[in-house]
Amino acid sequence: MPITVLVVDDSSADRLLIKNTLSDYRVLEACDGVEAARIIESEEEIDILILDLNMPNMDGFAVLELIKNSERHKKLRPIILTAYDEIENEIKGLKSGAVDFIHKPIHSLALKARVDVHAALINAERALEKKLSEQALTFDMVFEQAPIGIAISHNCFPKEYDDPSKIRINPMYQKITGRTKEELIKLGWAKITHPDDVAEELENFRKVESGELKEYSMEKRYIRPDGSVVWVNVTVYSLLPIGENKFNYICLVQDITERKQIEFERKYISEHDRWTGLYNREYLVSLLEKHAKTMQCSKKALICINLSMAELLTANYGYQYTQNMIKKAAEALSRFCSESCVLFYPSENRFVFYLFGYKQRSELDEFCGKVAQTLESLLVTDRITGGIGVLEFGGGQEEPEVDELLRKLLVASDKSVGLSEKNFQVCFYDKELEELVNRERDIGEALGRIAAGAPCEDEIYLEFQPVLDLRCGAVCGFEALARLRSQKLGLVSPKEFVPIAEETKLIIPVGERVFEKAFLFLGKLKQRGFGDMHVSVNVSVIQLLSPGFTKNLFALIDKMGVDPRQICIEITESVFASDYEKINSIFDELRSSGLQIAIDDFGTGYSSLAREKELKVDCMKIDKIFIDKLLETDPHKAITGDIISMAHRLGQYVIAEGVEHKPQLSYLIEHGCDRVQGYLISRPLGEEKALEFLESFGVGGAI
Ligand code: C2E
Ligand code: MG
Ligand code: MG
Repeated sequence: MPITVLVVDDSSADRLLIKNTLSDYRVLEACDGVEAARIIESEEEIDILILDLNMPNMDGFAVLELIKNSERHKKLRPIILTAYDEIENEIKGLKSGAVDFIHKPIHSLALKARVDVHAALINAERALEKKLSEQALTFDMVFEQAPIGIAISHNCFPKEYDDPSKIRINPMYQKITGRTKEELIKLGWAKITHPDDVAEELENFRKVESGELKEYSMEKRYIRPDGSVVWVNVTVYSLLPIGENKFNYICLVQDITERKQIEFERKYISEHDRWTGLYNREYLVSLLEKHAKTMQCSKKALICINLSMAELLTANYGYQYTQNMIKKAAEALSRFCSESCVLFYPSENRFVFYLFGYKQRSELDEFCGKVAQTLESLLVTDRITGGIGVLEFGGGQEEPEVDELLRKLLVASDKSVGLSEKNFQVCFYDKELEELVNRERDIGEALGRIAAGAPCEDEIYLEFQPVLDLRCGAVCGFEALARLRSQKLGLVSPKEFVPIAEETKLIIPVGERVFEKAFLFLGKLKQRGFGDMHVSVNVSVIQLLSPGFTKNLFALIDKMGVDPRQICIEITESVFASDYEKINSIFDELRSSGLQIAIDDFGTGYSSLAREKELKVDCMKIDKIFIDKLLETDPHKAITGDIISMAHRLGQYVIAEGVEHKPQLSYLIEHGCDRVQGYLISRPLGEEKALEFLESFGVGGAI
């Protein structure tokens, strides 16, 4: 657009001179102030006004006055024409709004140079304005259409506003928060932020406001008017201050609700057990690790409910049945949860409560009592038994690693099962238990070394207890009883090491060593002239059912050249709870090769007389309990005699175990018992002592 110059002068000669000089511009003319006022009013755009001050009708000062306060003409640049000697007019004119002056008589080159400078300034101003307006347009477009919420404040949220017009909030911000700009301005962000996030954001905001931080970014929640929650990522930057002491900032808000939803779902899956909906092991570990750092002083306890016996249910009724039972238990136990008591299902058939911040142990006792009561009434119909293991830690003491905590808890919970007659017995992990566990581990390690056959200080050796035949009054054989001598623990009773060997399956290789040693003893008996003696070897069900048991045994018998008829195998009553048919077929195989089978500890466990009838065995060993009872009860009322007759009816011979006193022996003789074994005859003896005993007692020796 060309620059327009209005020349106001009552001298037509001057006007002509100016017009000719400024031929590059669009020049308008007025002969006095009145005409000038009319043109200024009607013309759209006048850029430069060349104004004579001394004119008839309306002078130049009046024209300056006219345009001075007009908004429309604020860009108009008045240049006054003054004489050299009119310095006062010059000052007055400049004060009244003129931007420059030109002296009369007019020097055309000076005029042109002056006007060119102003024209250049006007063009620069125009270019700047254009650029600014383009930028503002772009910004407005972005602001209005941005897919993220933007709020710009030249004031301080959430404090009072002195000028709400200085706050800009775009449509997306309103959409995300579900509120209009007016509502947002009225409420301020703190009031629409989720209460749990306010403190953190106010602290962040304070840091930006004080200049400590230039910006902050955080994930937080807004509450919409309908109460729903929207997750957002908020970034707040401070802007350069516009007014004095004013804090200005821009806030960018991104709706991340969907992403959060997916995150929550993933987190839920990773932290929960699918079937029970309870927290899983991973979450338990992460919570314990977190609390190890943040809650060292707090008293903490893990309580493990061991329902491992539920596996028996699975065997009888199937997996789904047990699973449903577990779900019911989960629901019942969930009712005990509180802010400081969290329930987990970390592994099959085991629940764990994690309690923290309690005061004393009695609270745990009370808690376990209630849990036991609930489970007992829930599981009574399924006859599920279980135990409760407790591990206390924290309280300012140094804490073991989480893995170690869980190991100890498992130990306590395993020990709690079958601890006593009472169901859901509570077992605290303490020093005593720790020692027991360490001892069991040492025994297991010693057995492992023996089983591996590596040279070591640990050994399994046998003692032999004589068995007396009551019909001829002579020793007819021995029971081989295994002993463990460990370098670390000394002598260990089979009552202690056999269950560990069974649990670790080491009983299989250890049992083979026992057979070897027993067969060697048979060889020695033969050498010393007792070739018709038999030796009984105790065999656990795990050995019996291990693949290749009979094959290996027959191979050993062959290799060592022993007569199978001199070997008796003693199996405890627990055999009744196992795969009955398979056991019977193994018995068949052994018996058809000449070995004898005895049922050990009869009367202590699972046996029923009906089943006893079905088992193909040669001998019944009546447990010491029944022999002990002979001392307490009226001999006429004792059932021991009945057991003897029953066994005889089944075609079995009977050995009475643990005979310690003469009256017991008299009763047994009277009731037709075939053989006896016990301290009354002899304690278990070392190999050499056993041979000496035999020689001194003599076959057919007196009782
Ligand atoms: P068991 O087979 O019933 O052996 C009899 C146990 O009673 C032996 O204990 C024996 O020393 C003890 N005993 C014998 N007479 C008397 C008596 O008059 N009074 C008393 N109070 N006790 C008597 P031990 O040697 O401690 O063996 C305990 C159990 O360990 C055995 O019971 C057997 O079940 C198991 N066992 C021993 N050796 C082996 C083995 O080589 N393999 C397997 N699988 N188990 C074994
Ligand atoms: Mg035995
Ligand atoms: Mg026994």
